[in-house]
Amino acid sequence: MEPRDLSAHTVYQAGRGIEEVARELGLDPDDLVKLASNENPFGPSPAAVTAIRDAAGSANSYPKASHADLTEKLADRWSVSPKQIWLGNGGDGVLDYLARAMLEPGDTVLVPEPGFAYYGMSARFHHGEVARYGISKARDFALDAETVLSDYEGERIVYLTSPHNPSGGRFSLDAVAEIADETDDQTLVLVDEAYGEFADGESAVSLLETRDDVAVLRTFSKVYGLAGVRLGYGIVPEEWADAYARVNTPFAASEIACRAGLAAMDDDEHAERTVETAAWAREYIYDTLDAQTWESHGNFVLAEVGDGEAVADELQRRGVIVRDCSSFGLPECVRITCGTKEETKRAVAQVNEVLH
Ligand SMILES: *Cc1c(COP(=O)(O)O)cnc(C)c1O
Repeated sequence: MEPRDLSAHTVYQAGRGIEEVARELGLDPDDLVKLASNENPFGPSPAAVTAIRDAAGSANSYPKASHADLTEKLADRWSVSPKQIWLGNGGDGVLDYLARAMLEPGDTVLVPEPGFAYYGMSARFHHGEVARYGISKARDFALDAETVLSDYEGERIVYLTSPHNPSGGRFSLDAVAEIADETDDQTLVLVDEAYGEFADGESAVSLLETRDDVAVLRTFSKVYGLAGVRLGYGIVPEEWADAYARVNTPFAASEIACRAGLAAMDDDEHAERTVETAAWAREYIYDTLDAQTWESHGNFVLAEVGDGEAVADELQRRGVIVRDCSSFGLPECVRITCGTKEETKRAVAQVNEVLH
């Protein structure tokens, strides 16, 4: 037997894991600097680590109370009602729920190119088709309403990544509102704020007060350092928020994930340190890297290095892992995650040596 025709489906290419690379090079993982997947260089919030340990003993129970508690805490944080918070197995899980709630077979979605690969994958899993809007390097990856609207043809979901991965740029709230205004009533504008905490400025959540066609995605993977537990959430308009109950996997986020998320949200010190260090690292990279970079509002910087794959390979031999951007359609670029000060300095020094 065979699965259904999956020829239109692509495989997600994650940044390379530190253990994988260490094994391949015969190095100690502790000697490597991993700046390839926009992970938190300080690890998880220590409060979350304690919560995960404490939750281990109740892993036999379904996460009913913790799921409700986290939903409520997030609703409070964003001044929305609990039903507007859609927890998921990572932000990626939430993308699936939104596609499941919105798409009829054959509906088309509009995704950024270059951009995050999972938008299109998720839409295809839900029998959708994928169209693209171009973000132009020649225009320094400008993200304005026109960028999106010039390629819009009535798609059901329009994905905006703000801050954008991998360029680091962002949409203004006015641009998001204009896109929502100019698109069809039945088009959902989904603002992916996976890196929202690293940017100054207001979240698109404020638009939900007056609109029912904008939703926002957030994750615990980046600023909270919980990529490994898989926890993210959507914030959706009140009008159709109850669709969650009809599309979610029962207990969408695990007991461990929910307890970790609750603890991390109270750990301001860890989050502040993470955001401040990323801001420092961005500036350091712009100032000292001998390559063109673009202003970033996330915890990473895109750099043009010529042959991205060759540079990433050589860096890897030197113990520094960055993201080669060929899979984003930018083979001349690498994306460097903001590390600790020490890691960032080491990475920049190595990139500069490789480029010379
Ligand atoms: C990291 C990331 C996400 C979410 O990742 P999860 O680990 O699934 O929460 C979503 N969108 C973008 C653009 C990302 O970079």
